[in-house]
Amino acid sequence: MIKIVLFGPQGAGKGTQADRLSKRLEIPHIPTGQMLREEIAANTKLGQKVSEIMNRGELVTDWQMNEIIRDRVNAPEYQNGFILDGYPRNVEQAEFLDYQIAVDKVLFLNLPKTEVMKRLSGRLTCPKCGAIFHKIFNPSKSGDKCDRCGTVLQVRADDTPEAIAKRLEQYEEETQPLHEYYLKKGVLIEIDAAPDIEQVGLLIWEALGL
Ligand SMILES: [Zn+2]
Repeated sequence: MIKIVLFGPQGAGKGTQADRLSKRLEIPHIPTGQMLREEIAANTKLGQKVSEIMNRGELVTDWQMNEIIRDRVNAPEYQNGFILDGYPRNVEQAEFLDYQIAVDKVLFLNLPKTEVMKRLSGRLTCPKCGAIFHKIFNPSKSGDKCDRCGTVLQVRADDTPEAIAKRLEQYEEETQPLHEYYLKKGVLIEIDAAPDIEQVGLLIWEALGL
């Protein structure tokens, strides 16, 4: 039973690594980005608001995220552990999370800015199932279609170079304090996210002492 938070810049492979860990540890993965897309797809009030914000290349507000997270982490299916990815993004959210549950380990996937830009600018997303591919690093087998469900892949509105640069700047401002917050709590583990998926997976497994 372990409650893990994965954080790091977009493009560091959080979703991929969380999926792998989830299978190996047999605990659920809570992908917050996908949860937001579900809200959008279901066209809920929250989803409409979130969609407007994302289309501007901005981040969703704290209270909107907290509201979604609170409902998930307190649900019975997550009481035996989980991997949270994409949340918290700042100290305010981290404090909110601490108030809800006790986090055991926080994995920081570290990746230099230039590498983030390189990885994100080739990203393709499946609008139907949320699967993520990359033109160079993780191409889909069928070219322009999703390997899981066959839907034609898209460049998400928030994956244009301008939106990426803007988001990254905002992200860095917010994450430095978050890094210090978890370091102080003694739960932070830093992982070099530059190597390939297999290698990073191994580093995480070793760092968790599993
Ligand atoms: Zn798909």
